[in-house]
Amino acid sequence: MQVPELMNAYARIDTLFVRGEGTRLWDTEGKEYLDALAGIAVCGLGHAHPKVSKAICDQAHTITHTSNLFHNEPQQRLAKALCALSGMDNVFFSNSGAEANEAALKIARKYGNDKGINNPTVITFEKSFHGRTMATISATANSKVKDGFYPLLDGFVHAPYDDIDALKAIAENNKDIVAVFVEPVQGEGGVNVPADNYLSELRALCYANDWLLMLDEIQTGIGRTGKFLAYQHTSIQPDVITLAKGLGNGFPVGACLAHGKAALVIQPGNHGSTFGGNPLASHTAKTVLDIIIEENLVENANRIGKKIISELQAALNDVEGIVDIRGKGLMIGIELNKPCGELVQAALNEGVVLNVTAGNVIRLLPPLIFNDSDADTLIQTVTSLVKDFS
Ligand code: PLP
Repeated sequence: MQVPELMNAYARIDTLFVRGEGTRLWDTEGKEYLDALAGIAVCGLGHAHPKVSKAICDQAHTITHTSNLFHNEPQQRLAKALCALSGMDNVFFSNSGAEANEAALKIARKYGNDKGINNPTVITFEKSFHGRTMATISATANSKVKDGFYPLLDGFVHAPYDDIDALKAIAENNKDIVAVFVEPVQGEGGVNVPADNYLSELRALCYANDWLLMLDEIQTGIGRTGKFLAYQHTSIQPDVITLAKGLGNGFPVGACLAHGKAALVIQPGNHGSTFGGNPLASHTAKTVLDIIIEENLVENANRIGKKIISELQAALNDVEGIVDIRGKGLMIGIELNKPCGELVQAALNEGVVLNVTAGNVIRLLPPLIFNDSDADTLIQTVTSLVKDFS
């Protein structure tokens, strides 16, 4: 099924989906699948949501794109909604997660330059993932995404995740630090959930050192962890947040939100995007937010996520080879004691779409609309796959 005209960037699975509806996908043979991946934490509202499809059509018939040289009402409405939902002050719109992170990293650098720091340095974390552009692979600690692309950008130090003492040591020895950039739950790195007080301690450390606290909520945001944003499990206020994935339910849109002094950094001429936040993307994303709120999908993600995690823990408790079952909301990882990539195909054979990340972690990222019966099917299938495999 490999098409030679496509650059060989992806090791694709030999399944071709041609249609989706809600939590289900269908392949070319008409076989039905339960989608527990949602296009990698993107399609929170499931596939072909009628209100999202209508919003795209309506906006395409009204006005699609005018550029950021002009004001744009859908973009203004989306920015207002995002600020109200997050407590942030303003937003820069991009087209992807990596681009949202580029904006965040530019804010950190300019924040440092404006303070007279010539080599502003951002702390990022082991097992992190921030994207595939040059700045975001430099920020990402995982050497797999960096190899072959040297020289990378300077200005990053990688610290162990969920280890405040390690950061305190960096604070004492490195006066060039301007920001900490962190995933509230690491996604690609293996669904790593830090201690409950980790973000609050990070917040305090950032205040004490005049560092920006920048959260990469590209995977954890938009309801995924059972709060609209993952940091809302705590009472902190971050300085910068990046979003993408679930924001457009499949329509490409990203956002970099800023608060307080971070919101004043970018001025005309400092940053830009031709497409970022165009009327089509903005109206679609605003519709996605409206539906998530109207249908109480954040609460649903919280409830169904707890059910899946606790029932998987109960079912797989005594199974050999299970290292850990963890997660927050509908961001769930089952860590095994050996590589388990082959479970992706085994699950497809059983009619379930899931993912394996970090080599040995089964990752479940179902749509926020998952109901009890979807969850039961998923729990049953994953339990029997893991038992057969272990
Ligand atoms: N940051 C995180 C935490 C991600 O999970 C991802 C994608 O998986 C990205 C950034 C990059 O987003 P994109 O692929 O839209 O550039």
